[in-house]
Amino acid sequence: MAQETRDPQQLLQEVFGYGQFRPHQQEAIEQVLSGQDALVIMPTGGGKSLCYQIPALVKTGVALVISPLIALMKDQVEALRANGINAHAINSTLDSGEKQRIHEEIASGSVKLLYVSPEKVMSANFLNYLTTLPLSLVAIDEAHCVSMWGNDFRPEYAQLSAVVERLPGVPVIALTATADPATQADIIKQLALRNASVFLGSFERENLHIEVQPATQRMGRILRFLNDRQGEPGIVYCLSRKSTEKVAAQLRNEGINAAHYHAQMDRHERERVQEDFQRDNIQVICATIAFGMGIDKSNIRWIIHYNLPKNIESYYQEIGRAGRDGLPASTLLFAGFGDVYTYRRMIMDSDAPDVFKEVQVQKLDRMFSYSQATSCRTNVILSYFGEHPELGCGHCDRCDQPVSSFDGSRIAQIALSAVARSKQTVGMQLLVDILRGANNQEVRQGGYDRIRTYGAGRAWSRDHWVQYVTQLIDRGLMSIDYTEYGRLKVTPLGDDVLYGRTGVLLTEPVEYKEKKKGESFQKETPRQAFRRELLVRISLWRKQRADQEGVSPTHLLSDATLTAMAEVPTLFPAQLESIPGFSAHKRQHYGSDILQEIRAYCNGQQWVKSIKGATYLETLDYLHAGISLEEISQSRGLGMETLYGHLAWLIDQGEDLDIDLFLSAEHQSAILTRWHELGRPESLNTVIQKLPSGIGFGQIKVALANWHRQQKADPIPN
Ligand code: ADP
Ligand code: ZN
Repeated sequence: MAQETRDPQQLLQEVFGYGQFRPHQQEAIEQVLSGQDALVIMPTGGGKSLCYQIPALVKTGVALVISPLIALMKDQVEALRANGINAHAINSTLDSGEKQRIHEEIASGSVKLLYVSPEKVMSANFLNYLTTLPLSLVAIDEAHCVSMWGNDFRPEYAQLSAVVERLPGVPVIALTATADPATQADIIKQLALRNASVFLGSFERENLHIEVQPATQRMGRILRFLNDRQGEPGIVYCLSRKSTEKVAAQLRNEGINAAHYHAQMDRHERERVQEDFQRDNIQVICATIAFGMGIDKSNIRWIIHYNLPKNIESYYQEIGRAGRDGLPASTLLFAGFGDVYTYRRMIMDSDAPDVFKEVQVQKLDRMFSYSQATSCRTNVILSYFGEHPELGCGHCDRCDQPVSSFDGSRIAQIALSAVARSKQTVGMQLLVDILRGANNQEVRQGGYDRIRTYGAGRAWSRDHWVQYVTQLIDRGLMSIDYTEYGRLKVTPLGDDVLYGRTGVLLTEPVEYKEKKKGESFQKETPRQAFRRELLVRISLWRKQRADQEGVSPTHLLSDATLTAMAEVPTLFPAQLESIPGFSAHKRQHYGSDILQEIRAYCNGQQWVKSIKGATYLETLDYLHAGISLEEISQSRGLGMETLYGHLAWLIDQGEDLDIDLFLSAEHQSAILTRWHELGRPESLNTVIQKLPSGIGFGQIKVALANWHRQQKADPIPN
């Protein structure tokens, strides 16, 4: 059925179970269908895959998808197969028998999408093989990897234009989440795209909540954050291998199901961890940025950055991995000055060309200044990507709780004076020690306990000082000397404040308010509790079923799909058609089982009486138990007319009921004949007048519902 449908909109509904295209999807699809090249730029989670998957289904032949990571290919193939699409990935992990089988399937024309790595596609043999295939299109995922200007240059990508050249007439669609104009232009140039249209989606991800906190007492803050998100999958990104291991161990000590992941682990171990996360067997992964590129898990509910990312592109890409199913997701960044210092050193010590270093340093500075932003965070990111919204986003910490400014001249003077009196020889940590009057070895050894400002800042907490000093750096009153162990220096602007020639506005440090235990459930209505428990129940069902089938739970049915089902709640087959992500293939495979699960849950609930359809469900239960309409009428105190109405309604909702049990063949045929003779009127008044007196509206409705059902199953015009 799906295979014969050629209309993108219909494919979206039938194959993927979505009612509407997201911005730019349809245009990009049309561009490819018209045989032209396209460059699609959307944030991570924006919906790039459909831009080539739908054309692949519309066109004859096989679509070649070039993707840099084996794990990602595997996930995509699994997700496509879960929707009944024949897709394969060719990579080095396949044995020759498996390869042979795939080649045969391709030859038979049943394979719609073929995923390969750039290395594979560059091999002469494979390239020759490709030229013999009827290719519908070439999709190049993570296309920014072709460009030196992007944040993830890969040499093997640079040669892909040779592939494009060998396949004349095949439209090429390049996709990336990296938006800056230099990279865009370079992708088009490097891949030699022809008359490519660029589809640039907005980078705003409305379902992501963005928050930044100072990098102090991180573990305590993480535990509080996780306390509100029990069992929800998420990633803690760390800078070093060691900290991934440390943080994961600390979380496990707190009873949280956490594992670490970094590039130095052996391959099998990495694959196991990734797989376990994907399958919801591990809740938290503490990882270096090596993790995530190759993972297609739509229900990651939160991302924490334990360290500052190197640049805004990486940061946005990493947090973009949360909430790909469109449901709300939270992100928390710990911003500390130490990381800026570490990165600067790393950049300076590398042997990259100077221009390259300069670009990296600038990007790092933008990242840091983002972390110190006092107004809407999303807008800082969007303006980095060239968008300039006028209003605040409403989903970041700054929009939640606007910071208030105050005259911070005196605070600034205390800090600046301490820097000056310590002869500009101290870094951030030591400066705060001096201001707070700490009595430790470093302070005593340097003789800092004898300077006049020692202890002058006791009135403010350590946390506050770190934030104030950071603001002073950010306002340009102090600078950090990276060539000298990150020592702080007073700038000329700082001198002006220090000597009272000008003032400075600072913002109040944001206090982290601790939520009381269980607070989030306090205001829950019975209705909300009902939905939450139902969601837990169907999620468990999904997990069991996914384990049986050896697929990821979210590929079976996404969180968004389950949430929508619990919301309604969905009780009848026809309702499944309007649940996002419930494709035709999935309806066929899982529809009746999950409905049964929901019904079983609803049955035990008092509240269910007020659910739409509950009364019909009760009738259905009687019918399934073999009880006649007459008996139901007596026991429920409902008229026969009403019960026929129930029957018709149930048939309309896709219930598989045999109407011969309730309506004689004679009556059925009499009803349909009259109805057709009268030109199939909407109103049944004229029909009933022409029928024998024993037939009421309810029976007519049953006969018509049955007729409509048959039309749907066998849509040949009568
Ligand atoms: P990207 O590759 O841009 O990071 P994906 O293609 O993986 O994003 O899409 C992210 C999620 O959004 C997937 O779960 C996908 O099924 C879903 N999605 C894509 N297009 C739509 C749409 N038109 N309506 C609803 N969900 C969509
Ligand atoms: Zn905002």
